Amino acid sequence: MQQFESFRASSLYCNKCQKAMPVREKLLLVLPDKEIFDYLCTGCASSLGQREVTAGDRLPARRGPAARPRRF
Ligand SMILES: [Zn+2]
Repeated sequence: MQQFESFRASSLYCNKCQKAMPVREKLLLVLPDKEIFDYLCTGCASSLGQREVTAGDRLPARRGPAARPRRF
């Protein structure tokens, strides 16, 4: 399930399309301690938002307990 890694953001509201549109994540800027991603509307390619990812956020261990499957 790694093939949609660049498409993990869901939908954001687009002012141009006037509805929630699926967004494409684009690496905008790489800094020593974080990376900044741009969210682009897949309909009109407008920038709908940005996301900062620090090095710590990329570690899977940061996920909440709800994401961990329980086995009995
Ligand atoms: Zn749009």
